[in-house]
Amino acid sequence: MRTLRRPSITPPTLADGGKAARFAENLRKRWQQGKKLTFSAHWTEGDVRGALAAMQGWVCAYCLRKIDDKCKGDVEHFRPKGGVAGQPEHGGYWWLAYSFTNYYLTCNACNQKDKKSVFPLIDEARRITYEDRSGLADEPRLLIDPAIDPVDDWLDFQKKEAWLRLVPSSSASETARRRIEESCDCFKLNGSSALFQARNRAIDAIEEATKGGGDFQKIRRRASRYQAHSHIYRWALVQAGLNPPEPAEELLWHLETLSEQIDFRIEMLVWDSSDKFNLRLKNEFLWTLAFLWAEQYWQYQVKTADVGLRAKKLLEEKISQ
Ligand SMILES: [Zn+2]
Repeated sequence: MRTLRRPSITPPTLADGGKAARFAENLRKRWQQGKKLTFSAHWTEGDVRGALAAMQGWVCAYCLRKIDDKCKGDVEHFRPKGGVAGQPEHGGYWWLAYSFTNYYLTCNACNQKDKKSVFPLIDEARRITYEDRSGLADEPRLLIDPAIDPVDDWLDFQKKEAWLRLVPSSSASETARRRIEESCDCFKLNGSSALFQARNRAIDAIEEATKGGGDFQKIRRRASRYQAHSHIYRWALVQAGLNPPEPAEELLWHLETLSEQIDFRIEMLVWDSSDKFNLRLKNEFLWTLAFLWAEQYWQYQVKTADVGLRAKKLLEEKISQ
């Protein structure tokens, strides 16, 4: 997991007047009448997925596996919408089914196999219901929310036998430690040989670069929060006494990847303009571009203003096309 900054703009599908907002209103009526609740998957719309990719890239928000053409990824409800595991009387956080702040883009395994409707609390008596929904921020959740919790400061790695395990850092409080341990268990962050192998490959890459005279720029790119398994690359760079990327650099690289992807999908559509797969992806990528533009992320990158300006220029060029 990495610290993420969620776009402040609500995707049109979910905003007032959007089709999901209308559906949510019907949901409220059904709940008031005591009827069974069913959900329509408006969260799969291109603007919603595009906004999530602006925040986190094409990487699972929990385990940092790559989301690509093979693993399309799911839009996951952080607080489960249709029922909470082990709490049958609760009924789920149905009123957050169309709330953008409750969404993450995740790999299929994290959403469908590991998390499902799991949402444990430190104190079950304080679980929030629709009637007391204004107190949601104070609900003592156990899972880490990467757009709220300072994950980058809380997580560390520790070598155990041949593997690098994700552990709480020394700056994590007692509660933060519990949350990290619970999240690692839930998403099997220390229970998958594929994740362990990805971490070891990062260490090997740094060692190789050190021996070969040091082409660390490639590794710094891998340490960007928009890249798969970026936390281990970042950690390994710091361990080796090298500079990890600044947020502005990460943003610029994110934009470059996005720009290449848009061009590639457009090229594919020249061959077959009815290719639904590439039409969908092009639509999502254009939404990502729009969100990056609308949020004007580069304004926050004062430390490396030149990189921020290059990102702005790239965005302007892409928008004007
Ligand atoms: Zn995952």
